[in-house]
Amino acid sequence: VEETYIMVKPDGVQRGLVGEIISRFEKKGFKLTGLKLFQCPKDLAEEHYKDHKGKPFFPKLIGYITSGPVVCMAWEGIGVVASARKLIGATNPLNAEPGTLRGDLAVQTGRNIVHGSDSPENGKREIGKI
Ligand code: ATP
Repeated sequence: VEETYIMVKPDGVQRGLVGEIISRFEKKGFKLTGLKLFQCPKDLAEEHYKDHKGKPFFPKLIGYITSGPVVCMAWEGIGVVASARKLIGATNPLNAEPGTLRGDLAVQTGRNIVHGSDSPENGKREIGKI
């Protein structure tokens, strides 16, 4: 069955949004199969965002992701990878539709509260790292 990796980023944890984020995925009908509160070390953050290495925002992105604990989760269900991305909404919260997590709960790309894997392969790979 398909699996995805969902991570509540440090701002989502600090703002007390973990329950609401979990609730959206539960209500949709997906199954929570793993959960861990985790302080992401710098090397793992750099590995997770390696596609962005060299971009101007990369150092800030690594500083953000390592700034406090994150909540790492594995979710499973039919079509969960693409569906979770839809529930999360566009990368820039100002472009995210109302009804999505980022559309309802965030305003800045650099503080966009939650990550979801972009493919089933990356879902498995990211779950395997934590
Ligand atoms: P994520 O991988 O976190 O789920 P995404 O797949 O929607 O996000 P990506 O384009 O892969 O978006 O960017 C990864 C993350 O890098 C974004 O979620 C955001 O936190 C950060 N980021 C991307 N672009 C910018 C930017 N221009 N300024 C600041 N941060 C950015």
